[in-house]
Amino acid sequence: MRLLIMGPPGAGKGTQATFIAERFGIPAISTGDIFRANVGQGTPLGVEAKRYMDAGEYVPDSVTNNMVRNRIAEPDAAGGFLLDGYPRTLAQVEELDGMLAESDHKLDAVVVLTADSDELVARLLQRAQIEGRADDTEDVIRRRQEVYLAETEPLIAVYDARGLVRAVDGMGEVGEVTQRIAAELDDIDEN
Ligand code: ADP
Repeated sequence: MRLLIMGPPGAGKGTQATFIAERFGIPAISTGDIFRANVGQGTPLGVEAKRYMDAGEYVPDSVTNNMVRNRIAEPDAAGGFLLDGYPRTLAQVEELDGMLAESDHKLDAVVVLTADSDELVARLLQRAQIEGRADDTEDVIRRRQEVYLAETEPLIAVYDARGLVRAVDGMGEVGEVTQRIAAELDDIDEN
């Protein structure tokens, strides 16, 4: 089972990724979480990534692609994975296509969480107070939304053309959204 979860910043990808991954017994791999862990540990990757993240910009593809390549090669991802926050650019889509082709695998589905943009800003500002993420200030949130619209939203059409997109309304209670996703993925075999 190889899945992606996509959606605008604040759509609840990380929260839902955890549930989906559990349901299918696969690891949820969040590039944002990996970057934040590296920032926290002060690794060279973290130092590099922090410059971009704090400004709401994307970390360069070369850095991100290598990180994902290494992560999905780990033993726990051999039977599948759910990627949260990757791919975010067309170049990353192509890179992921290459990684999957090398191991003779393909994506089973791309879950797209849809959300209302005012609600998103409100959620992110609230998260800023709770988690204290450096990139959850109002200006940076706006920039992240702009970058998402310019760079990442167009990828949905790419995956839609491949027949992989499962759009799910991301508004409402966390549990409700989880149920909607589970229903959308009902027909996919757990292999
Ligand atoms: P959000 O919750 O806003 O979707 P994430 O936690 O997924 O944010 O990512 C936080 C930041 O990490 C991004 O704004 C970006 O700087 C960096 N990042 C995460 N994934 C990628 C990626 N695939 N390509 C480039 N940068 C990334």
